[in-house]
Amino acid sequence: MDVTLEKFRRHPITIIWCLRPFFWLLVLIFFVIIYGCAGRPVAPGASRSIDSITSGQVPLIRIGLYVSQTSVKLSGTERLKLVDKSSGEVIGISAPGKDWNLLPIGGWINILTSDGLAQGLYLGPIEVIPVEKEGRVKILKKEYRGKIEVISSDKGTLTVVNILDLENYIRGVVPVEIGRLQESQIEALKAQAIAARTYALVNMRRHQKLGFDLYSTVFDQVYQGYSVEWKVADKAIKATRGMIAIYDGRPIDAFYSSTCGGETESIEEAWAVKPLPYLRSIKDRRGRNSGFCRESPVYRWQVEWEWKSLEDILSLSLKNSKKNKSGEFSLVGMEVVKRSSSGRVKELEIRSNFGKVILRGDEIRSVLRRPVPGNPPLRSTLFKLKIKQGPSRKQDIIIATGAGYGHGIGLCQMGAIGMSTKGYQYDKILKHYYRDIDIYRAY
Ligand SMILES: [Zn+2]
Repeated sequence: MDVTLEKFRRHPITIIWCLRPFFWLLVLIFFVIIYGCAGRPVAPGASRSIDSITSGQVPLIRIGLYVSQTSVKLSGTERLKLVDKSSGEVIGISAPGKDWNLLPIGGWINILTSDGLAQGLYLGPIEVIPVEKEGRVKILKKEYRGKIEVISSDKGTLTVVNILDLENYIRGVVPVEIGRLQESQIEALKAQAIAARTYALVNMRRHQKLGFDLYSTVFDQVYQGYSVEWKVADKAIKATRGMIAIYDGRPIDAFYSSTCGGETESIEEAWAVKPLPYLRSIKDRRGRNSGFCRESPVYRWQVEWEWKSLEDILSLSLKNSKKNKSGEFSLVGMEVVKRSSSGRVKELEIRSNFGKVILRGDEIRSVLRRPVPGNPPLRSTLFKLKIKQGPSRKQDIIIATGAGYGHGIGLCQMGAIGMSTKGYQYDKILKHYYRDIDIYRAY
């Protein structure tokens, strides 16, 4: 892509890229696109030494499954023991499949059996422990390894935390983050396992004030417990047990996203953070080979807005991002002011009856939303703008022709899959996306 200044002006439409037909592994792609695009617009975690994080043992991790709940219903695949952690009192042991109901009452937790029998009020946290070794806790049709802790928050609601060892946690992350890949693509699963493990270790205690380490959503890494475990992913996780990516002796900020579109992004160009030597822009291909992520259905894409629908979207999203006053919004024009070295839009100027607004980096995606139900964010900032002229300006069509999905920083998941298909080993894949790193076994 060129890096010249691009004006939002009237000229005939030109199609820059042909949209490739896509055909393979639809289910896998669905997962990578839905979950793997994980935007993580946060400052990188403070880099800490490896020993201060693991002490050579598999660490336990606390995952925030649900917050702000007004009731929690759970059961066990086998027997469950409930303990009030504040007093040490055993509240009861339930038979397999029998529900417990937990309700917050003014800072306390009211516990009821499946027959509605009140067991009393407890201060909590309430520990929910499977009695049998292989027993799991079931919440909202999903099963979890390890134990559950239910905490009463200051706001009079409940927080549900899953506590388990890091290796079991990764088993519930990898298949949803990169998909249920086959044996022939196991190297991509290994690379994803190491990236997810490194991310978790670096971000331990990130949400400590809320009572857990990481969210189970795209805010951190998507984790769905035992229910999504996958035998090939399990094999990849076992083969890379304890392995993390390090740079200069410290675990790296292992960002990853779905599809880079041909070139990854340097971290400081997308977010207002310091540059990191291992998170700089790279071309996602080797030699004359075609792009590693070109089989992704969003390697190239196009979005079209009618003038009015773009006005409606911008009016709302600019207001939500506190960049606009309320009142009738009328779009005057848009202009790409600056591009990053990878060709991504770094600054976009929007002109309206309220004046000029400059959007920067990843923020552009959340303002320039797509004209489909739910108005999801634009897939990436790697795009060009064109206009298809109508009979009058209000009938013009605005077209974004773009590439990739996600922030484009670090590992490109569809590229990792492409590399594994071409026979690259996991360490080669990781060192392609994270430059000059080493792989280290922390436990
Ligand atoms: Zn890529």
